Amino acid sequence: MNSTFRALLIDRDDDKKQSAQVTDLSADQLPEGDVTVRVAASTLNYKDALAITGASPIVRQFPMVPGIDLAGTVDESSNSAFAPGDRVVLNGWGVGERHWGGLAEYARVSGDWLIPLETAFTFEQAMSIGTAGYTSMLCIMALERNGVTPDDGEVLVTGAAGGVGSIAVAILAKLGYQVAAVTGRPEEADYLTGLGASRILPRADFTEPGRPLAKEQWAGAVDVVGGQVLANVCAGTKYRGTVAACGLAGGMDFPATVAPFILRGVTLAGVDSVMCPVEDRREAWRRLAQDLDSAVLQPVTTSATLDDCARLADELIAGRVRGRIVVPIG
Ligand code: NDP
Repeated sequence: MNSTFRALLIDRDDDKKQSAQVTDLSADQLPEGDVTVRVAASTLNYKDALAITGASPIVRQFPMVPGIDLAGTVDESSNSAFAPGDRVVLNGWGVGERHWGGLAEYARVSGDWLIPLETAFTFEQAMSIGTAGYTSMLCIMALERNGVTPDDGEVLVTGAAGGVGSIAVAILAKLGYQVAAVTGRPEEADYLTGLGASRILPRADFTEPGRPLAKEQWAGAVDVVGGQVLANVCAGTKYRGTVAACGLAGGMDFPATVAPFILRGVTLAGVDSVMCPVEDRREAWRRLAQDLDSAVLQPVTTSATLDDCARLADELIAGRVRGRIVVPIG
């Protein structure tokens, strides 16, 4: 690799005031790891925006290169599973939080965190999927593992116009499910129908406290919202249905009763993408290559440079960004 490389670097001054700027770093500043990756593309996720702006204490040590996702080519490796030239992808594992992440020309990481990138995807396509898409697939795998099939009836997706939700809608529709999409943005109805949703439901139908058991409607659900919405989704899930919960866009609380679980045998399946075992990651990416038409992401993916990221992080936190931001680097 070159002796210096460009990276977005977050640092704090003596008054603990945080700043982020593109900086030239030297190769010997890279953290420990047995694989050095020449990053071809990264993304700007909401979590990255929180890290860059300091809006939430995502960064555990300074200075930090943000970027929870990266895709690129192995440059050097002392890990027997990877050789120079291999195409790889990394999501989570604390990169961009505790370990320098993907918003840089190079990243040095543990080979245990990498998985080979499916040949179906370019680096930029992989990053337009990113943690959002990979988490959607983990949710759908959780539904399948609990026996939910397209024949069981309608599946609900909350926060449907967001990153995780919209990709979940697209995959579930392609797999043959009838998908009901919950959104607080009626103006996104055409977008969601285009992804394959057969019904659009207003978010307001789910935000008020409801009965412990409501009419059995959903064979399964992917919930990114949490809070009262998740409680109402569980209450309306059919006998032996499954709700995959991965997010807290509407709140961390869970004002529910046990009634759906003990009277209807409903399963609440928790989904975590960050520390998810590597076998499930490989399976999720294999399934994404098979079951997601990545063309559906093209209209909602924009490209940004490393230099754009600090400004875009503010926009993202302010809710003024729609869809996915890919950062081509290499
Ligand atoms: P986005 O911001 O892209 O989407 C979230 C969506 O949730 C919004 O688009 C909106 O959908 C809906 N929403 C937002 N605020 C509220 C609210 N107050 N009440 C109800 N609905 C709301 O985020 P992502 O899709 O990237 O992530 C979704 C959630 O999943 C986040 O909480 C994120 O932290 C979490 N996540 C968890 C992961 C894990 O490993 N468990 C991995 C990745 C994400 P609409 O406009 O359609 O109403």
